[in-house]
Amino acid sequence: MNKFIFVSGGVCSSLGKGVAASALGALLEGRGLNVRMVKCDPYINIDAGTMNPYQHGEVYVTDDGAETDLDLGNYARFTNSPLSAANSITTGQIYHSVLEKERQGRYLGRCVQVIPHITDEIKRRILAALDADADVVIVEIGGTVGDIESIPFLEAARQFIHEYGKENALSVHLTLIPEVGEGELKTKPTQHSVKAMQEMGIQPDILICRAPAMLDDTMRLKIAMFTNVEKNAVFTSYNVDTTIYAIPLIFFEQKMDQIALKKLGVASRHSDLQLWREMMAKFDARKGLVRIGIVGKYIELHDAYKSVYEALFHAGFEAGVEIELVKIDASFLESDGVADAMMGGSLPSTDSPVNAGKERVDGVLVPGGFGQRGINGMVNAVNWARRNKTPYFGICLGMQVIVIEWARNVLNFADADSSEFNQDTKHPVVSLLEEQVDVKNYGGTMRLGASETVTQEGTNLFKAYQKIHIWERHRHRYEFSNKYREAMLGSGLLLTGFTPDNGLVECVEWPDHPWGVGVQFHPEFKSKPTAAAPLFRDFVMAARDCKKDRE
Ligand code: GLN
Repeated sequence: MNKFIFVSGGVCSSLGKGVAASALGALLEGRGLNVRMVKCDPYINIDAGTMNPYQHGEVYVTDDGAETDLDLGNYARFTNSPLSAANSITTGQIYHSVLEKERQGRYLGRCVQVIPHITDEIKRRILAALDADADVVIVEIGGTVGDIESIPFLEAARQFIHEYGKENALSVHLTLIPEVGEGELKTKPTQHSVKAMQEMGIQPDILICRAPAMLDDTMRLKIAMFTNVEKNAVFTSYNVDTTIYAIPLIFFEQKMDQIALKKLGVASRHSDLQLWREMMAKFDARKGLVRIGIVGKYIELHDAYKSVYEALFHAGFEAGVEIELVKIDASFLESDGVADAMMGGSLPSTDSPVNAGKERVDGVLVPGGFGQRGINGMVNAVNWARRNKTPYFGICLGMQVIVIEWARNVLNFADADSSEFNQDTKHPVVSLLEEQVDVKNYGGTMRLGASETVTQEGTNLFKAYQKIHIWERHRHRYEFSNKYREAMLGSGLLLTGFTPDNGLVECVEWPDHPWGVGVQFHPEFKSKPTAAAPLFRDFVMAARDCKKDRE
């Protein structure tokens, strides 16, 4: 089966196109199809790797080390689509390869143009995601119809639909039904948005209308009439007050997958959404609250730590608790005593109105990050968690901070640091590998993608994964410095995960502590609502249990 679904958006951005595309993917998987998800991003950057998290949110890393758009994280959480560099296409990549071919003379002297050369390259890249086992490729086109920069992608979609035929390639269009005045829902923006699609030569087959509440039959009929879309193919994505993970079941109740399969000429088949139903049951059964202090640098922006927050939320399903994120700007914790007061609950967090209140946190997490700002605040937060026997989870930079804190406060190396933050430190306990010292170019110089960590029984790492050999993804330049292995071990720090050649330390743990673990890799990228990442699950369970003990 070689089927394609193009998901575009209209009216405005941030309507949840990524979630809608992923939820449809989950439903088709429920019907036994092998789904592949592809994101087309209209920006000119080659990838998201060099973009500032403030502007673009998190960089999602795939097994093969591609630094991609955070939408791929949605795909990973909702579907089982394999994700690699092939699943993330940017305008920059398309032009890059067309220009390379042009320089190599591969266009045989022809004038190189947006149509057909750019659009052909887009189509070639979409087809590259279609591996031998794939049944359906869902292609999400970033941006909003009408944007200048999305035009080549929509034109490629139009050509695709023309070449493969309506029965093999569908257009799904997501729009907004705004509410004006007293609960009056307006269809006009949707009508205009579909007109804009039609001007591009694409007649949407399915509409997903983002609306405050479920649209009634009269509304759907009206939308259908004005847009040339069948009434039973007009769906509502209403605002959910539970969780975005309810959306696959919400679409299922409206028979979205049945309609899509019918339009694609696929015979009706059994649907199994058991995992999603079980997940929702766990969601509903959660009792009690666990407060997790996130101490980071990009705290104001939810998207900067998207996968970390989602993974904590998934862990809450397993631990049977709601998670309250206490977002704390690390630079705020740099002055003496502030971390103790804040974590201990005698000072409210100023950064999140939701969390303003005077309560102790039940767990502390330092996520990944780059650059010096806020590091000493993170060290103070880690120090508080270690002394107060409060579960701590350090991811990448968060593991490096465990090592720095231990060196400063247990080994009494007062100026211990990572050479990323202090080149002149007498104790660079985290540093570049010798062979990296001369690297000057920031694009593509990191340790990126999946690699193996070896642990042993008895460690928290083993307890989480129930495995000796663990595969997780990396994105960093600096490493635990092997020159300090002996000193760290001698003073009691547990080194519990290594690369298979024992060359690099991948995990450290605190002794005599309920749960203090730092990993050099990023387990958040593989967490799903239906299967929380093991370390997140154990961290949240430890936080829950410590809270219970205290009470
Ligand atoms: N800045 C650190 C490094 O490059 C940590 C990176 C991260 O947390 N992803 O090693």
